[in-house]
Amino acid sequence: MTPEEVEAVCRERGIRLVRFLYCDNGGIIRGKAAHVDRLVDRMRTGIGLTVAMQAMNSLDQLQPVDGMGPVGEIRLVPDPDTFTILPYAPDTGAMLVDHVRLDGEPYEAGPRNFLRRMSDRMAERGMVFSCAVENEWSQALVEDGRYVPVDESLCFSTVGFTATAGATDDLVAALEQQGIDVEQYYPELGHGQQELSVAPRPAVQAADIQILVRETIRGVAAGRGLVASLAPKPWPDAAGNGGHIHFSLWDSAGERNVLHDPTGRFGLSTTAERFIAGILAHLPALLAITAPSFNSYRRLLPQHWSSAFVCWGPDNREASIRVPSTFWGMEERSTNLELKPTDASCNPYLAFGALIAAGVDGLAQELQPPEPIDVDPATLPDREREAAGAHRYPETLQEAITALERDDVLLDALGDLLARSFLAVRRSEWEAYSAMDEDDQYRGHFLKY
Ligand code: GLU
Ligand code: MG
Repeated sequence: MTPEEVEAVCRERGIRLVRFLYCDNGGIIRGKAAHVDRLVDRMRTGIGLTVAMQAMNSLDQLQPVDGMGPVGEIRLVPDPDTFTILPYAPDTGAMLVDHVRLDGEPYEAGPRNFLRRMSDRMAERGMVFSCAVENEWSQALVEDGRYVPVDESLCFSTVGFTATAGATDDLVAALEQQGIDVEQYYPELGHGQQELSVAPRPAVQAADIQILVRETIRGVAAGRGLVASLAPKPWPDAAGNGGHIHFSLWDSAGERNVLHDPTGRFGLSTTAERFIAGILAHLPALLAITAPSFNSYRRLLPQHWSSAFVCWGPDNREASIRVPSTFWGMEERSTNLELKPTDASCNPYLAFGALIAAGVDGLAQELQPPEPIDVDPATLPDREREAAGAHRYPETLQEAITALERDDVLLDALGDLLARSFLAVRRSEWEAYSAMDEDDQYRGHFLKY
């Protein structure tokens, strides 16, 4: 769409403000809004943003990062193809933006620019990385100033379907209105826990959709006086909220699923195995990007179906990478891989991009994955598990950050400015949350994601 076409839709639909949205290094969705009278101009010129914002952590504490001080400006330039009307906010639209330098070049610390660069790496190999996030969240009420689950329903139970039927219907309608294809919904294991999956798309589009899905889940709940939280661990004793990433690799025409080979192990190609090997080789560092909050590590425990060890396996829900069994009659189309240790406190542009960087390293080096694991790795004797290469991965954000600081492949992919700002932000969050009591740690995450 041209800016004039976007404006015309806004006039016709009575839209007054259009949000220019992005996701920052702390996984926080932020933005500024343009009035419809200024929309065409702002779509061309962008909206101004201080260069400091990528140094701001999720507690709004600005971190000292060279090049991100009080002097300097970039532009938030919207992608008109992402224009949508927000069903949960009156007379409001939104677009996802790119961070652009004043000289018109992509800003080095812009997350969407990073994912474009990584998508280009796939394109150089004649491939498209396609993915979707399977979001879990906690639907809560506020009682005496505390967040409590909206129901006490059991896993996949019809009591849970009934308890949240109205809110769920509103949510699905709101996603449909934004052109987002919903695949499945069900009440999950924890009280008030919900899960909804959407259709896969090429990486940048999938990340844009993930931002809109997160916003819609929270926005629709708020409209009903509820609080929806995608925080990785909503309450100490509750099931964690995962945001598993399902991905597949397609040829550039989008016709052939490159992961699929009917003669290969679990129907996977050599390319798939190398990609898996790359991800597992970089997993400790990758976690700093895919499970990047203090509370992410309260979710990632053995025997919690969220994975805790560096391993892969067919239909293994305790493996970091699950190879889901395919569907009858659509084996190629349904071949995909699922990364488990990831949650909605991540920035999806960074998470998908880092996943690509790790996988492509596996392709470039023709890495072999370790033997797949077809049991719960926690049940293996320690020695056997270690011998199989299924090491316990980082148990805290701090350990994951340290691993990232040592991972040249991921640091090179991020580039100097994005890497420095990301590490500064996430390290500062580790320090800030470490100094809080447990209640504040939970509350801090509950409200932000
Ligand atoms: N809630 C689990 C997690 O934290 C996932 C449960 C499942 O979908 O198998 O990842
Ligand atoms: Mg689930």
